[in-house]
This record gives sequence, structure tokens and C-alpha cells, in this order.
Amino acid sequence: MRKPFVAGNWKMNKTVEQAALLVADLLPGLEAVKTVERVICPPPTSFMVVSRLLAASDVGLGAQNLFWEESGAYTGELSVLMVKEFCKFVIIGHSERRSLFGETDDTVNLKMKSALAHDLFPILCVGESLEENESGQTGTVVARQVKKALEGIEAGVAEKIVVAYEPVWAIGTGKAASPETANEISRDVVRKNLAECFGANIAAKIRILYGGSVNKQNAADFFSQSDIDGGLIGGASLKAEEFVGIVDAAA
Ligand code: PEP
Repeated sequence: MRKPFVAGNWKMNKTVEQAALLVADLLPGLEAVKTVERVICPPPTSFMVVSRLLAASDVGLGAQNLFWEESGAYTGELSVLMVKEFCKFVIIGHSERRSLFGETDDTVNLKMKSALAHDLFPILCVGESLEENESGQTGTVVARQVKKALEGIEAGVAEKIVVAYEPVWAIGTGKAASPETANEISRDVVRKNLAECFGANIAAKIRILYGGSVNKQNAADFFSQSDIDGGLIGGASLKAEEFVGIVDAAA
């Protein structure tokens, strides 16, 4: 019922020229897999070039962040309107934004509302730190992040949301969560809280991704779980063969 979804978060990697080369390498493999919604999220300097390269395909373009205002005196920020000029998707509340750039549940909520008000499809990232995990707080932390991010959002737009459960300790470390545990959090915490916000019918339609050290070898174990509908991929999205292998696993 839920179409599998795989997004590549390139983070702060690739110049314009390098981005064009990577897209050229990715496209044949990505275009071959129509049953999966495929999205790439390069840095904004490459939006123009990448959007042109993707124009004839159904591979989506996403941003890694946005600022909730449309314009104004916000030096260094990328406004929701600027994102909207090129992108259909936007990653919101990535753990690197939360831990390195001071994003809070409140700013994540403002970004979510702004993205949805401008008809973007947000990929909301949630996940516990190692310390929170080890002290048994995973459920509480993830539930709070989901609830706060969605405060004030109407059920009518909720199907546009994709949630990525990304334990912070698994991101970029090579230590993925166990697929069974990731599924439990996705089902018993993320989807349960989505149901409390929007009702069970809508919650059942929202895609939940797992993120954190996914590669083409372990991807199928995650994607075969009942409540994991795809992945948010960091490091492995920078290698065409790996990313296409992950998309194949989702298919
Ligand atoms: C991420 O940055 O969202 C991520 C999941 O990274 P990685 O795949 O490298 O762990």
C-alpha cells in the first residue's frame, strides 16, 4: 500500500561538476526502478544543474534544510521559496542540524509547517542519541520529537510527510541498528504517534524510513520489515553502485 521511498542525503559533498557526474552515473540505475520513489538531496549550489539533469526523469530533487520565512534579513539561510523553486522534497530536523546547528523541536515544527504550507513534501528526521538509547529513553525521545514536529499540522496535508527514524549513533558510524529494533520503534513509537496526531487511517499511509549506516548489503533486511518503507541514505548515496543497489533492494 505504501510506495517504497529511498532518499540520498549528500550532505556537504560534491561541487557542481562532481554532482553532475554523480547524477549521470546514478540515472540509468535509478530510472530502471519505477516502483520506488527515488529522491536525491544535493547541496543547493547544485540544484540548478541537478534539476535540469533530472527533468526528463521521475527522480525527485530534495533540499537538506530550509528556513521557514519566504525572504528577509536572515543572512546565510535558504528560504522556503528558494527551495520550492527547485525541489519537491526537503529534509527537516536531521540530527546533524539538531546537534551542530542548534535546531530544536520548535524550529523543526516551524520548518515543517512552512514546508507543508508551500506544498513541499517534508522528510522529518527523528532519532535518539547514544546516551538516550543506553539510558532507555528511545521511545520517549522519539515520541516527543514526532509530536512536537507535528504540532498544529492538519490531517489533510499529513500524507505528504515522510518520517525518517535515524538513531543518531547509527549515522555515519557503520553501526546500523538491528532491523527488528528499528521496526519496533517505527511501528510502536513513530506510527503510533502519527496515529495519535492524524488518526490511524492516515498514519497507515505515511511512509517511515530507516536511516543510519544503510548499504546495499543490509538494505533488504530493513526494507522487509512491516513498518520500514525505505531509507534515508547518507554515505552510501555518494556511490552510484551502492545507492542503486539500495534502491533495488527497496523494489
Ligand atoms: C544520514 O545522514 O541521514 C544517514 C543516514 O547517514 P549514513 O547513511 O551515512 O549513516
